[in-house]
Amino acid sequence: MSDEGFEQEFVQEAFDTNWIAPLGKNVNEFEKEMAHKLGAKNSVALSAGTAAIHLGLKAAGVKEGDIVFCQSLTFSASANPITYLNAKPVFIDSDFESWCMSPEALERAFEKYPECKYVVVVHLYGLCAKLDEIMRICREHGATLIEDAAESLGSKYKGKYTGTFGKCGIISFNGNKIITTSGGGMLLLNDDDADELAQKVTFWSTQSREKARHYQHKEIGYNYRMSNVVAGIGRGQLKVLDKRVEKKQYIYNFYKSHLSDLDGISFMPTYDWEESNCWLTCIQLSGKVRPIDILEGLEKCDIESRPIWKPMHMQPVFADCDYIDNGAVAQHIFENGVCLPSDTKMTDEDLIRVCTAIREILNSKN
Ligand SMILES: *Cc1c(COP(=O)(O)O)cnc(C)c1O
Repeated sequence: MSDEGFEQEFVQEAFDTNWIAPLGKNVNEFEKEMAHKLGAKNSVALSAGTAAIHLGLKAAGVKEGDIVFCQSLTFSASANPITYLNAKPVFIDSDFESWCMSPEALERAFEKYPECKYVVVVHLYGLCAKLDEIMRICREHGATLIEDAAESLGSKYKGKYTGTFGKCGIISFNGNKIITTSGGGMLLLNDDDADELAQKVTFWSTQSREKARHYQHKEIGYNYRMSNVVAGIGRGQLKVLDKRVEKKQYIYNFYKSHLSDLDGISFMPTYDWEESNCWLTCIQLSGKVRPIDILEGLEKCDIESRPIWKPMHMQPVFADCDYIDNGAVAQHIFENGVCLPSDTKMTDEDLIRVCTAIREILNSKN
């Protein structure tokens, strides 16, 4: 979605200067502008958020046979890259306060797997994980933190942007995210070795071509670099990020104030430590009305809503992976949750139409 057409100018420039390629001014500038906006030390623009997780894990040192702790309540793209490196995910439950990784379960995971050196935390739906606790536990166990901030671009934890706390943070510009380039991602690097790692990741993402006149390769490479045209769209979108965050927060507050009087419905948590980008407004149902009733009821009114991500430890593809439980919180949020329509183009009229439909569904059953 384009709000004010800032994208056109940068994309046109890519054409005018004939840099229709995975390199050029837009790529370099987009990386700089994003790192500057968020406060990351360095960044690498890539073809997808998933590619950023893959190369972030590789840059952090994940190797074949390593165990990687990963939040269970997330989209599959958080966990898949662990398996690309032939490492082994162990899934960690959430807590109700943050909806994100439970520090308590993480602590117990380290008791069971003291050898584990990597943790992937996800800021789910733009909500911030309990970073202070999680970072403390990682430090105590000498583990590296990787933040999946694909859904939380613009969210702040204690005043600082998510994605800038871990050694690596990843963001996504997929079509459904708060800003989009149609597809794309970025790896944020936050430690003292950020410049060195950025160079390394850029090298891997462009097929690991050695500096030689002939085509020389000492390492396996990937075709993961963002194109200069796509980066042009990203530069335009970055200019409207703050406005989008404001609108997403408005949508969350609108739903909350128009529906909170109803029995059997509650909203995803917001806590003092966080300033969520409210990427999607999610609800929890506790009465007779089940998520499927909302999904189907809204569908009848031509309104699209979505289920909550199904936790990774419940997925057949990860059936052989271990899981550290905290009282089945992830499963509970999944089984009782719905993501409401949260597009920044929605008008008050649209929002009222959704609220009215939800009210009718709830009243007809409860
Ligand atoms: C979207 C998403 C990703 C993957 O990003 P892509 O750019 O689509 O590859 C990773 N993690 C989470 C939590 C996401 O929502």
